[in-house]
Amino acid sequence: MNINDLTTPHFPNWCPGCGNFGIWAAFKNASVKSGWDNTNTVFVSGIGCHGHMINFVKLTSFEGLHGRAIPVAEGIKMANHKLNVFVFTGDGDCLGEGGNHFIHAARRNHNLTILLHNNNIYGLTTGQASPTTKIGFKTKSTPEGNYDPPFKVLNLALSAGATFVARVYANDMASLADMMIKANEHEGFSVIEILQPCITFNKECSPAFFTENIYQLPDNFDTTNLNEALIKTLEWGEKQIPVGLFYKVDKPTAEQAFDRIKDQPLIEGITQVRDVKKLFQKHY
Ligand code: SF4
Ligand code: MG
Repeated sequence: MNINDLTTPHFPNWCPGCGNFGIWAAFKNASVKSGWDNTNTVFVSGIGCHGHMINFVKLTSFEGLHGRAIPVAEGIKMANHKLNVFVFTGDGDCLGEGGNHFIHAARRNHNLTILLHNNNIYGLTTGQASPTTKIGFKTKSTPEGNYDPPFKVLNLALSAGATFVARVYANDMASLADMMIKANEHEGFSVIEILQPCITFNKECSPAFFTENIYQLPDNFDTTNLNEALIKTLEWGEKQIPVGLFYKVDKPTAEQAFDRIKDQPLIEGITQVRDVKKLFQKHY
């Protein structure tokens, strides 16, 4: 398998310079390196600029409703545990419309990899405040400045129960591809917050801003210490945006907990065929 096997007829229509290009390239590189193909891999997206990914990577994929990518992915993984299942989602999609799904999937430790494109804005709808927009930031929906405090994405993920938590800059494609592979290898709910510049609607979180202010977590950072990870995920400031792996522990996954038949997809154990025609006849 090579990169051409993943190429579709559609070249991405993201704005030139958008961080989504880096994520796209990193995912394709990781796919080639790991042999992720249509026999073993599915990805799901939500709604947003990130969601166009399904048109630009030739792998089995599904574009869910706004905020509903995670429950679709949960269903896929429950039906066939052997698949690599990725979720592409944005800060608005994942933490606004989909916030409920995100925290409960983390709590249950579903064996999924969440690729969270965080550009701190709703990009597709042309620039409204999202759940990660900073206080005071002026957007179309907050012309006087945003009043609402933003989520700290990784702090939320850790608090909810995620067992693999990392952050990578979108334009660092080598590190991102490497982290995608590690996150997929992890058995449990893996979250990668991807710092994704939206060069059109968020001029502050620019490539220059990230290049200047991110720093790599040291090699000896204890990724099994929840308290240390929680504290580290609160850091955000001048030359003070840590990237790398914050936390990784092994815990039973939702799929393992629900498995009643060894090595059998759960759905084979619970599916019942029901005739629903009578219900329609009764009411309509
Ligand atoms: Fe990328 Fe922002 Fe353009 Fe969307 S609006 S394609 S996120 S730069
Ligand atoms: Mg966004």
